[in-house]
Amino acid sequence: ENKIGDNLSDVKTKNRSLVLRLIKKKGFLSRIELARITGLTQPTITNIVNDLIKAGLLIEVGTSETKAGRKPILLAFNDQAFYVVAISFKKKGFTVALTDLGPNILYRRDSNYSLLENTEMTLVELQKEFIHVLEYATQSLSLILGIGVSVPGPADPESFTILAHPVFLAHHNLDLRPVLREYDLPIFMMNNAYAACLHETWGGKAKEARSLVYFMVGETVGAGIMVDGKLYQGTDQKAGEIGRTSINIFGPRCVCGNYGCTELYCSTKSAVEKALEAAWLGKSPFLKKRLREKENTLTFQDLLEGAKNKDPVCREIFTSLGQYVGIGVVNLLNLYNPEVLVIGGEIALAKEFIESSVQQVIEERLLYRDYTSSKIYYSQWGEDVTLLGAASLVLDRFIAGELGRF
Ligand SMILES: [Zn+2]
Repeated sequence: ENKIGDNLSDVKTKNRSLVLRLIKKKGFLSRIELARITGLTQPTITNIVNDLIKAGLLIEVGTSETKAGRKPILLAFNDQAFYVVAISFKKKGFTVALTDLGPNILYRRDSNYSLLENTEMTLVELQKEFIHVLEYATQSLSLILGIGVSVPGPADPESFTILAHPVFLAHHNLDLRPVLREYDLPIFMMNNAYAACLHETWGGKAKEARSLVYFMVGETVGAGIMVDGKLYQGTDQKAGEIGRTSINIFGPRCVCGNYGCTELYCSTKSAVEKALEAAWLGKSPFLKKRLREKENTLTFQDLLEGAKNKDPVCREIFTSLGQYVGIGVVNLLNLYNPEVLVIGGEIALAKEFIESSVQQVIEERLLYRDYTSSKIYYSQWGEDVTLLGAASLVLDRFIAGELGRF
């Protein structure tokens, strides 16, 4: 895999890949703009574009506004050219979905581990849901490019094995091959924070960023790091475990063995625990009522609704959560100084309730804050970013020309 030279066919694929990448990221481009950006000659661009239109990967979508002369025709990436099966393993369940190359979720099947007692059952369920998705895609099976899998911990991309799971010990070393190998499709697998980071570069606000840190705050907390357009995964796919950094060395013991980990203070799980406590103590009539209606459980969604209904206790929980998110952001900015930092995962849904306390912490605590040009965005996706990330794993390899489809 260390070849240095390019054969003529490699050059052809490379140029097509470049054109597809540019159009997918920019949205619309004309042939003239493509020639200008790539430095390829007009006839070369014309040939590439014609081939890609013939292959159904590009479509002509009208003209752009120019002051004089013939208006150039704009080209767009055809998201419906191919499909992907995306699988996202989470802390408490998994989802199998069919997506297009948007990626947009076209059909999904959600399954919970609570119904499942062991690894074998997980594989049986996975097989079942997988077949449902393939049945949905029945007309377009030949258009499925591959399977993308995102998992809540380190994964071995060679053996398609979940190496460790934050909660289910039974899922340590869970080998997905018996299910996924049956279909003779390329499989790509990655830690969910990395997959989400990659997704931000294809569909989010960070499409043009050369360096990007994706700070994922959901039930678990982690980060995906992109340097010079490439994911940095570390030697054992463990890089970016910001959730496991201790911010209180005398704090409570964490499942990882460390004490006072960021994740214990800065996760949707920690916020829900605070909400439960407030509800039990009768501090919030809204949460108390919710708790009764939902048979003694509360979710992050309840907390969000409470905040939207101006419940002061819910608002306070978000203010405090925002401070911890702010600490995580400051730590990540100090460590990586990225062009863009994206705050994502379920927490992104609470943007309006955490934003000001996140900002305040950054203004008070960031190193050299007056000389920092890093931009901070909130992801436009909630929880589904890990599923979309799984789809983006395949999209990314496809556009790189590694799937041999163009
Ligand atoms: Zn920990």
